[in-house]
Amino acid sequence: MPQHIALLSVYDKTNLLGLAKGLNESGVRLLGSGGTAKKIREAGIPIEDVSDITKAPEMLGGRVKTLHPAVHGGILARSIPSDQADLEAQSISPISIVVCNLYPFTQTIAKPNCTLSDAIEEIDIGGVTLLRAAAKNHGRVSILSDPVDYDGFLSKWKEGKGDVGEGERARLALKAFEQTARYDAAISGYFREQYASAELSVEKRFADVQRMALRYGANPHQKPAQAFVDEGKLPFKTLCGSPGYINLLDALNSYALVRELQEALNLPAAASFKHVSPAGAAVGIELDETEKKVYGVDDLKEPLTPLAAAYARARGADRMSSFGDFVALSAPCDLATARIISREVSDGIIAPGYSPEALDVLRKKKSGKYCVLEIDATYNPPLIETKQVYGISLQQKRNDAKIDASLFSNLVSQNKDLPTQAITDLIVATLALKYTQSNSVAYAYHGAIIGIGAGQQSRIHCTRLAGGKADLWWLRHHPRVINLPFKKGVKRADKANAIDLYVSGEELEGSEKTHWESLFEGKVEELSVGEKKEWLKKLVGVACSSDAFFPFPDNVYRAGKSGVKYLCAPGGSVMDQECIKAADELGMVFAHTELRLFHH
Ligand code: 5GP
Repeated sequence: MPQHIALLSVYDKTNLLGLAKGLNESGVRLLGSGGTAKKIREAGIPIEDVSDITKAPEMLGGRVKTLHPAVHGGILARSIPSDQADLEAQSISPISIVVCNLYPFTQTIAKPNCTLSDAIEEIDIGGVTLLRAAAKNHGRVSILSDPVDYDGFLSKWKEGKGDVGEGERARLALKAFEQTARYDAAISGYFREQYASAELSVEKRFADVQRMALRYGANPHQKPAQAFVDEGKLPFKTLCGSPGYINLLDALNSYALVRELQEALNLPAAASFKHVSPAGAAVGIELDETEKKVYGVDDLKEPLTPLAAAYARARGADRMSSFGDFVALSAPCDLATARIISREVSDGIIAPGYSPEALDVLRKKKSGKYCVLEIDATYNPPLIETKQVYGISLQQKRNDAKIDASLFSNLVSQNKDLPTQAITDLIVATLALKYTQSNSVAYAYHGAIIGIGAGQQSRIHCTRLAGGKADLWWLRHHPRVINLPFKKGVKRADKANAIDLYVSGEELEGSEKTHWESLFEGKVEELSVGEKKEWLKKLVGVACSSDAFFPFPDNVYRAGKSGVKYLCAPGGSVMDQECIKAADELGMVFAHTELRLFHH
């Protein structure tokens, strides 16, 4: 049995002497690179220099130490006759153990004064090659990449008389591969930051790049922040302004939603997002004169295109929540749509293109700071998505479930009359939930969300929240609201807030009351509880979707109070029968979808 050889080349020399001593006592021949061999030799443990077998000195200031066929042939050779013959022909001895850890790249780049050349010098070449070669050949070779493994390894080595077993070699190999993967990710991350967006003019800074620096993360103190792809280029570019972290969360979620809405219903779609959930989402169904007034687009000079109608509905569903929204359009933005956006308080927009006139209008918004993103309509995200929480990477297949009419074919109620318009509304509500923070419940009518309850821990709270919003939306159609005598010059956002106070029946006192009254010409007659009740009875034919099953029938009863006639939710609750019974009692059409749509 030939003598086993261990090659040691470590930057972090923790526990090194104990390992070298143990291996030496077990009769293993030790080889070491410059500093590693020196330290072991100085401790009185016999070790040879790598250069003794390579017959080549370390060179280029340490850039080439172990990169040599005598080393890598010795590591990579399998126990097969042809490999053994190659070793013999070149007088190379097989290596059984490699001990290696890498130059501290991450620590170096974290230093405040680190220059590019400092970083480059810390890119370990030979060490990564040692780790990969030994890990690749773990059928025969053990790779020790972490000082904490030394003691356990020595015990196993002694016990197994030079064989630590396949399982241990495999475990060590995986650890080494993980170390090189982390190391390479740190290097590519650093260079992405250095090179991917540098040296470009301001206009081009965000065009055709792999990485985009962001002002900050979710909060101003979360710096640095960036968006990037590992391969290729970002699928969107900035035409105006500079997006923040939450803008991008909104933009990417909302664009996914409108694209799927357009695919499902073959109509242009729009969404108005706030805090990574839709405040509104709709497809381009024409607005009647009352709707135009309710949505505040009756005075628009440009005729409403289908895309503009979609945005008017999305933006108008819940005008208060949409204040400062991020807009997504499924089709290139036209002038009429840009004109609606230009009058509202909004943070940014994502669309697969802009007409020159539309872009001109948007570029003037927010003194030129309005964020305008153009997305590549042919972009398809990878099927597997990863995110990190508290340092842990979580990976899953994207939610690529298709939402279309076939989802609502399992009608579990006695009433099975599901008209086409109701299917459209169920698709809009269900697709909106696919991109709403869970738990969530949505009500839809005329191809638009009219109330959405997002991010509640209890389902009934979602159903109530969404129902309450749908009620307010419908009360805004009351002739008394449409004809509220606002003074000239009252801002659109102030009108929206004043209307919300009026229809919600909030009791006002003191200066809040005085301010509210000052917005109107003359006295405004109250909308009484009875009048509101009467008006709410007129809301019928609403669709409602839930992102998971209803645990209790209270949800069904609550939906019924806001005019819901068409209901869908996955089945699977122990209370399914009770919920179906409640739907039957209210004459609803209830579809079980068998598709849970949690989104986080
Ligand atoms: P030492 O302290 O023994 O001189 O150097 C050990 C370090 O050198 C280890 O971190 C190891 O990964 C690295 N290393 C080993 N071989 C090479 C090589 O050929 N080129 C470079 N750049 N680094 C190497």
